[in-house]
Amino acid sequence: MELITDPDRLVLFLSGLEGERTSADRRHSPLDEDTSDKNAHRSDRTARVLDALARLLVHDTDAQPRQVFAVALVPPSLTRESAQVIISENSEVTEVAKNHARDILQGLYGARQLVDNQFPGGDSRPPKLLLPPFIPIDSEDAVQRKLANIETAIVRHSWSKMVKRFRKADRHLAFFEVSAAILAPDQPERLSSLKAEHGWPSDAGFLKEFDRLRRGLQALHQELSKSVQDGQVQRVRVVLVLVDATTKALKASMPEVFDMCAAYYPAVSATPTPRVDFNHWIGKVLSTRADYLQLQRIIFSPALHSLLTERIEVTSTVQEPKTADALITTDELRDALSGNVNVGDKVLGEYLRKRFKHQKGDRVRVPGRVHCECSVLAELDRIWRAGDTVIPHVGVSKPPCAFCAEYFAAYRTATEHDVTTTRGTRGDTVLDPWRCPTLEDEAADENVRVELSARLRVLLRRKVETFASSVASLTTTASDDLSSPLDELAADALEQLVGI
Ligand SMILES: [Zn+2]
Repeated sequence: MELITDPDRLVLFLSGLEGERTSADRRHSPLDEDTSDKNAHRSDRTARVLDALARLLVHDTDAQPRQVFAVALVPPSLTRESAQVIISENSEVTEVAKNHARDILQGLYGARQLVDNQFPGGDSRPPKLLLPPFIPIDSEDAVQRKLANIETAIVRHSWSKMVKRFRKADRHLAFFEVSAAILAPDQPERLSSLKAEHGWPSDAGFLKEFDRLRRGLQALHQELSKSVQDGQVQRVRVVLVLVDATTKALKASMPEVFDMCAAYYPAVSATPTPRVDFNHWIGKVLSTRADYLQLQRIIFSPALHSLLTERIEVTSTVQEPKTADALITTDELRDALSGNVNVGDKVLGEYLRKRFKHQKGDRVRVPGRVHCECSVLAELDRIWRAGDTVIPHVGVSKPPCAFCAEYFAAYRTATEHDVTTTRGTRGDTVLDPWRCPTLEDEAADENVRVELSARLRVLLRRKVETFASSVASLTTTASDDLSSPLDELAADALEQLVGI
């Protein structure tokens, strides 16, 4: 059994045994000061391509744990013939995902080669390519045919994910209900008065477009209800183009169109309902297509294209954490905090009871795994130290948790290697217990751990102090609890004092 390392112990005391959903709506590490323009390149095209690729790898919506992917890219160089894609999952990386990544990138590289053949001239400017909004699978044009094949493979691979997003929380049914009511010839009075209050465009063109969107989404619903077949995949491709175009047209003439639908929904629904975010839903419905379009940019961009090669090497990396034990005692907690906290043992004990329940006082097996973005970062670090150029971004299918964000920030500070990952966009969740990755370079590993521990210690201190003040405000009247119990010696002394 290994001794628990400092970062793992701090994370354990920060989150308890069950993991925790933090309520803070943080966009990035609370300790990460380099959040300004310095890291603006996070959002550059390569980063967006890698994030889109990571999202498009998800294929098994029933997987336990939930499928999450992280990807990085090592471009070709003088010493490296093929571009390399590194993939990690939160469990073993599936062959299906690896093959899909290879097929997409090799396919896009091949499409760009065809473009170069069609527009010879040797300069690196992107050719003036005009693609139709929908490309038939049997297009006469070789480039277009290749793209249609790539998109077909993507829709097929993403099918179960698309179904899940479409039906999530029955938002599709809510949309069908409200859109039918909005378009009905006679409308409930409550809806009419809401429309008078919030407004609703009355021109025929807008209504026709709205109806087109409704019919498009209904067709999508029908297709996604079937099992995936070639015919369905092609129809879904067509419908997605339609839904995408009508959504854009509607928003162009009325930016709040989906907010209005949400506002009207309670007036037409038979049952009381919470507010539905139709904007978010439409975004999710279109996300597979949006991610595909993001990747398709590779063929327009010489800079992106130059990162790929005809053959792409795909490797996977998943770090297994060493098994470790930890003592759940106030002494250990105080030690983790480096003693630097003005909170009594009683409160520390309460803090542990809350997080570890009956296991307070025990030696426990430290739970968790190395999250996929951290495994990829460790692999990138190894390749970078060996002298290769890497793309300093780790694409993720889901925003990183708070601990991964801290690890990346600590890594950047300790190594001065500016590797980024996508920032969290929603409240950070740490439902999946976190273990610290290990870098192959021992000195670098130690430096990152020291930096990370310092950051985590600040977070733990804040958390314990916040807990202490919440306890104090609840128990201000319980001050008599602070006197120590009367022991034998003290009792003797009191007896002597009063002479009995
Ligand atoms: Zn994480």
